[in-house]
Amino acid sequence: MTAPTSVSSVPGPNAVHLPSVDHVLNLPAVAELFPRYGRPAVTQAVREHLQALRQYRFQLADLEESFLARSVDEWLTQNHAPRLKTVFNLTGTVLHTNLGRALLPDEAIVAVTAALHAPCNLEYDLKTGARGERDALVENLLCELTGAEAATIVNNNAAAVFLALNTLAPRREVVVSRGELVEIGGSFRIPDIMKQAGAKLCEVGTTNRTHLRDFEQAIGPRTALLMKVHASNYRIEGFTAAVAAHELCDLSHRHQLPVLEDLGAGSLVNLEDYGLPHEPTPRDSIAAGVDLVSFSGDKLLGGPQAGVLVGRRELIARLRKNPLKRALRVGKETLAALEAVLLLYRNPEALAERLPTLRLLTRPHTDIAAAARRLLASLQAACGACYEVEVRDCMSQIGSGSLPVAQLPSAALVTQPRSRKGAGQALARLEDALRALPMPVIGYVRDGALWLDLRCLADEAAFAAQLAQMDLA
Ligand SMILES: *Cc1c(COP(=O)(O)O)cnc(C)c1O
Repeated sequence: MTAPTSVSSVPGPNAVHLPSVDHVLNLPAVAELFPRYGRPAVTQAVREHLQALRQYRFQLADLEESFLARSVDEWLTQNHAPRLKTVFNLTGTVLHTNLGRALLPDEAIVAVTAALHAPCNLEYDLKTGARGERDALVENLLCELTGAEAATIVNNNAAAVFLALNTLAPRREVVVSRGELVEIGGSFRIPDIMKQAGAKLCEVGTTNRTHLRDFEQAIGPRTALLMKVHASNYRIEGFTAAVAAHELCDLSHRHQLPVLEDLGAGSLVNLEDYGLPHEPTPRDSIAAGVDLVSFSGDKLLGGPQAGVLVGRRELIARLRKNPLKRALRVGKETLAALEAVLLLYRNPEALAERLPTLRLLTRPHTDIAAAARRLLASLQAACGACYEVEVRDCMSQIGSGSLPVAQLPSAALVTQPRSRKGAGQALARLEDALRALPMPVIGYVRDGALWLDLRCLADEAAFAAQLAQMDLA
């Protein structure tokens, strides 16, 4: 640190006369900042300020002390603002991985807060006073909701698949259809996870067609298990053939081999009952004979980030004994939130109202379109005469790889620059301005316009209120 702490008096044409750090720290308006930010942070801010001023060759005469104090205050406010901000997700993707996936119901938030405020029986059996198993807190609920014998929880579904492969198939072969070697969000690829977990991938069939005999021919002395992966973010259409879970299970069990299924989104209810397209459930898989099923906690389940494994008691017990389980285990926040969410599933009739994910997915088009019409004028006023805003129908998607083909009728505020000249820049300026708002607004660009899909807009008033601050300069 070379910032001088006394008034600089270097002679010459570029002489800079700035007050010392101590002098600035003693200004009443600056000293006032100590209780809020602490002395070290304020000192650091003052130093950086003076250094910047020196670079810009400010003269002492230019400097109003009150201006300096205010500027230090602003710098500290910005510097201490949390980096994790809440945003308006108007991307039309309900379970947006980059925007944090599922929103939790109030019941879960209350449970998490309580568990964070006070000690809790995370690993403590209140009946016996003995050490307990943290997964036991939600195991019964998961068994009840999936029909499985046992369950365990890890950090996310990628970890669940990893733990299952590492436990059940080290240095042995795992047979998977070529049509199911998926990549999810760039960093989760079945072949890579398999390799890292120490298992050997044995691909069978072709991209579009895999038959039972393909699996049968691949089974040998080194086979550890057969695996099914839910092709969650794409669909192979046309001349296709896949092996049904129950057929695969029959074959596998004849050879005394377990079946592992990575279900991905893993809805715990039949989505068709809520007017949504069918998505396979862990209950279906367990009923078909799958020995171990994994799915995410923060996709269609609508809970916290977690990986859920349900299945045969003996296999779950083996997973728990793997030292990696300790490295992948979840904290009390996750278990508290998960339990609260799972409890909502006991009342399926109220679920669409109480579980935010399902509420957003089932939000009627008429409701969204009405919101768009209500907000049209505010957005047009904020954008000014250079842009034209209109209400248009669009399609939302579920996201997080669930139901790739399914689309949900929705409505959007669509903003287009009026002039073709410089339209690209004008559109980028608009996106930037919306992202720079106190609660950033995230939409998407399509056909030369910015689309704000209002399906996930809960607080219209808050959205409209901050639009006046939009700076399109
Ligand atoms: C989403 C998904 C994963 C990864 O789950 P995370 O909870 O994001 O780790 C793995 N497999 C499938 C099929 C998925 O859809």
